[in-house]
Amino acid sequence: MTSRRTRMRLIERLRQEGIVNEEVLGVMAEVPRHIFVDEALAHRAYENTALPIGHSQTISQPYIVARMTELLCGGNALESVLEVGTGSGYQGAILAHLAKQVYTVERIDPLLDRARKRYAALKLNNIHTKLADGHWGWPEKGPFDAIMVTAAPDKLPEELLGQLKEGGRLVIPIGEDGKQYLSVITRRGNECEEELVEAVRFVPLLGGVVR
Ligand code: SAH
Repeated sequence: MTSRRTRMRLIERLRQEGIVNEEVLGVMAEVPRHIFVDEALAHRAYENTALPIGHSQTISQPYIVARMTELLCGGNALESVLEVGTGSGYQGAILAHLAKQVYTVERIDPLLDRARKRYAALKLNNIHTKLADGHWGWPEKGPFDAIMVTAAPDKLPEELLGQLKEGGRLVIPIGEDGKQYLSVITRRGNECEEELVEAVRFVPLLGGVVR
């Protein structure tokens, strides 16, 4: 159920849904998604679906992970990236194969704790984690080549734009439940360019920290 064949079937599905970046598809074929869900759900880890991870949160659907990763990379080599919303840790593990350094911020401590253990087990030593409200990014570690937010705010958190390098991209779902759009925002000097990609469904970006 977690065999190579099962994983490759998922990769084929991602191709059919329009994912074209071979590097992203290659990394998705390598990173074991079943490590990032509870054992009881491991048999569903290679379905193209979001799954519960506790604390009312979910590991994103593989298609969404692939799509956001593809948009984040944009064909460029990435030095450092920030992820807001570590969750299970799966998206961060994918990014760790595509960027030199990955910084990831989560507001729910027990989720972050589990993600850290998974990173250690997979020897992903280039992922750095912090328990914090990701609305504020991680200013000490920025500016970043790219930032990915995996929970949806009602409106753009301006702080994050200031932590992007020139030409850097922010990939973020924005909007209330039922009306969310995935956006790619590119920083051009003090201006930014926004592109709406597709309608999506994410858990909300919330404030504060849960211990
Ligand atoms: N990238 C994750 C997706 C998890 S769902 C994965 O691959 O599994 C979104 C996550 O965002 C949840 O864990 C939620 O707790 C977290 N989150 C929500 N608001 C946040 C905030 N303000 N700061 C940091 N994390 C936040």
